[in-house]
Amino acid sequence: MKLKNLLIVVFVVIAGVPLFVGLQSLNHYTGEHYRRQVEEHLGSLSLIAKKRVLDIVERVEDNTALVASRTQMRLSLARWLESGDSKEIEVIQRILNDARNGLRHLKGVGVFDSQGRLVASSTELSPPLTQLSADISRQFSAGFLVGRGASPQRLKTALLRLEPEQDQVLLISIAPLILENRRIGYVRLAFYTEFLADLVRDRTGLGATGEWLFTIRHESGDAQFAIPLKYDPQAAFKRRVAKDRLDVPVTQALLGNEVIMRNAPDYRETPVLASTRYIADLDWGLVAKMNEEEVNRLVNQNRVYIYLSEFVIVFVAILAGILLSIYIAGPIEKLRAHTSKVASGRFEQPPRAGGWQEVKELSKNFSYMILALKDLNENLQQKVEERTQELNLVNRQLELLATLDPLTGLHNRRYFSDRLDQELSRAHRYDGSLALVMMDIDLFKAVNDAHGHLTGDEVLKGIAHFLAAEIRETDVVARIGGEEFCLVLPECNKASALTFLERLRADISAMKFRSDGAEFTISCSFGIAFMDDSEPDANTLMTRADQALYQAKEQGRNRVMIYLSDGRVVPVNEFQEGT
Ligand code: GH3
Ligand code: MG
Ligand code: MG
Repeated sequence: MKLKNLLIVVFVVIAGVPLFVGLQSLNHYTGEHYRRQVEEHLGSLSLIAKKRVLDIVERVEDNTALVASRTQMRLSLARWLESGDSKEIEVIQRILNDARNGLRHLKGVGVFDSQGRLVASSTELSPPLTQLSADISRQFSAGFLVGRGASPQRLKTALLRLEPEQDQVLLISIAPLILENRRIGYVRLAFYTEFLADLVRDRTGLGATGEWLFTIRHESGDAQFAIPLKYDPQAAFKRRVAKDRLDVPVTQALLGNEVIMRNAPDYRETPVLASTRYIADLDWGLVAKMNEEEVNRLVNQNRVYIYLSEFVIVFVAILAGILLSIYIAGPIEKLRAHTSKVASGRFEQPPRAGGWQEVKELSKNFSYMILALKDLNENLQQKVEERTQELNLVNRQLELLATLDPLTGLHNRRYFSDRLDQELSRAHRYDGSLALVMMDIDLFKAVNDAHGHLTGDEVLKGIAHFLAAEIRETDVVARIGGEEFCLVLPECNKASALTFLERLRADISAMKFRSDGAEFTISCSFGIAFMDDSEPDANTLMTRADQALYQAKEQGRNRVMIYLSDGRVVPVNEFQEGT
């Protein structure tokens, strides 16, 4: 073989083989890289959806607590249970209709006695069940009220579940009605669920084949679809996935596993890429998924650029190899021919060296190309980082929103309950003191009736603003229901807590509110309970403060009542330090 050809073969083998192997692994790496990006994107989407659901669920819980805490309603129910006086039913009915008219997403509301029999309902109770399920009282055992699973201290106020009704799905929320520590009945609210429908209808970011799946646990343990599916509009409450199909994403979601699943069969047995989420408070599963076929197409689209660049690199490398071989082999072969001519007596000029310039030129081009490739890759990384930052921002905003009450800007019930747990365990740990205050605006319904709901809202905001300005930095204040507020006062001795409350009470009753030119005042009742040697948990302390508040109302309102460690409830002037 001629030297030139030999060099070409040697060059292509020595340079080409490692290049080829290197590019193959580059291919694999970039494919995996793009796929990860799609997966991260899907994971962020499903996390945001989960937070939205939790946010809405919390509002439903708050609204339920608001209706369940209506003092007049509970008193009327207790009186009706004793006397059977039908006037009390009318009062309850009026309060229920009032609640229904005040809450936009509420379809209907009913009050049941402790056996689960219907006592009264708003005019559109729906579905028209006259009996709550028989196991309701078991579900509301003390265990449930203090929560289950991961956060055993949480004060759960309502039992939530989805129920089908004709062509729609309702979110049912059931809460016990407590009077003087006794469960006298239940209230059951049926909410429309457009929020779920809206959530799953909006498939932004899920590509052409993607969809949201939303499942609840069927009594058999199977995953049951709770809303219509993209590929099966009739699926709600009809279609199920067996609980032993662990390869299906909805099953994993209901098992509480929040994972990314590749190539998993969905309900149609089509392979999909899925991100699963579990909403523990409700025992609901949430899945965001896309067909694998579409994911692969997306990944490959991105890889086309890499393939093109690779093709150019290999082509140039081989061309460079050939040219290099020619330039190395050329002079040697000419020299060889010259030598043989000299040997045979025919003389010729020796060949001139040259041509390195072109090789240099080529290697320069080669470096440019590598730089361009690096640039492309860095650009992509920058875009991914920007997207991740945007998503993180949205997440943080959602987290903050979820702890606030939209009307007053104070913290909400959920946040309060978490903080109370923290402050209590801190107080237990360091032998500190802690006071819990419950405060309720007196005859607030009358304010609404006389001046309208909007003025009522202004009063709530005014009170909230005042409370926020008066407390110390370490205190916590929250709106835990309609016109009910709670305060935690850590590290505050009893006497100064009472002085503080008396001052709050007096200042509030001196506040002037204005509506249509007319001036009016309001007052508040307070119940306070202290942490004592019995080391009460959050639930007990709340019940104690509530009992004191109830007494404040009974004794004529606009006053502070104290729950003592011996179980007595006394007004401020009868309080003595040490009791
Ligand atoms: P009591 O002194 O026994 O507490 O009497 P009350 O009228 O304040 O108590 P009740 O619990 O019977 O009524 C509470 C009222 O608060 C009824 C409801 O219309 C009103 N309310 C609850 N939430 C809001 C709200 O966000 N805005 C307005 N404007 N009113 C609300
Ligand atoms: Mg109230
Ligand atoms: Mg009130």
